[in-house]
Amino acid sequence: MSPKKKCIVLKFGGASVRSPESFSSIADIILQRKKEYERVVVVVSAMGSTTDDLIALAMKVNPNPPRRELDMLISVGERISVALLAMALSAKGSEAISFTGSQSGILTTNDHSDAKIVNVKPHRLIPHLESGKIVIVAGFQGMSLAGEITTLGRGGSDTTAVALAIALKAELVEFFKDVYGIYNIDPKLDKQAKLLSILSHKEVLKIVNEGAKVLHARCVLLAEKNAVPLKVLPFAHYEEKNVGTLIESNEKTDLHISYEV
Ligand code: ASP
Ligand code: MG
Repeated sequence: MSPKKKCIVLKFGGASVRSPESFSSIADIILQRKKEYERVVVVVSAMGSTTDDLIALAMKVNPNPPRRELDMLISVGERISVALLAMALSAKGSEAISFTGSQSGILTTNDHSDAKIVNVKPHRLIPHLESGKIVIVAGFQGMSLAGEITTLGRGGSDTTAVALAIALKAELVEFFKDVYGIYNIDPKLDKQAKLLSILSHKEVLKIVNEGAKVLHARCVLLAEKNAVPLKVLPFAHYEEKNVGTLIESNEKTDLHISYEV
C-alpha cells in the first residue's frame, strides 16, 4: 500500500446535503478519502434551501433586520449540517467532530453578511486531526476581531474550504457539487458544452467572473494567491472516469500565506 498523503479539505455544497439520507452518502465519500489521507477536514454548506428559508423567516419578523442578528440566524444553517454529518459518521463507527467557524479560528472583518477572512487560527482543530479524527467545519461563517459571528456572503462556504486548506497546508481541496465539473459553456443552456478536465486558476476566475456559479469567485482568488490546487467533482458520480475539473497553476515562487484582507 502506498503511504498516505498528508491533508485534504473536502467541501460539500447544499445540493449534496438535501435530505437526512444525504449525510450517510457523503459520509461514505469522506471515509473513502480517509483511507488515502492522514488528515481529512470537511466543510459543509447548509442543507438545500435552508439559508433562503432562514432569510425568509427573518423577513417575516422584520423586513429590515439588524445585520448582526441576521448573521446570528443564517449561520445556523451550516451548524445543522456539521452536527448531522458528525452523527452520520459516528453511525458508521468513525470518529468525527464538528466545529463552528468561530471555534475553527476563522477570523474576519466586521462586515456582517459580507465579511472577509483576515486570518485563520485552527489550533483547536489540530489535536483532533493529529488523533485521526475527521474534522468537520461549518462553512460560510467566522468571527470578527470584535468577537461577533459573521457570514461571508452567499456561496461563502467555498471560501471557508480554501482558507482552511491554506492554514492547514492541505494538498488539495475537493468540491463535491451537483455538476460534473467546469464546462466551456453553460451545459444547462447548450448540450454541446464540453467538460474541461484541467484549468488554471486564472482561467477559472475568468469563467466565474463571466457569471458561472460553479465556484465562489473569492475562493478561486484566494486559492490562486496561495497556489492551492482545487478539484470540482460530482458528488453522485465522483468515482467515474472522465469526470471532474482539476484547477492548478504552476507558479510556486516564494509564497507567503495571504488571506482576503
Ligand atoms: N449556505 C450559504 C448560501 O446558501 C453558503 C453556501 O452555501 O456556501 O449562500
Ligand atoms: Mg447554500
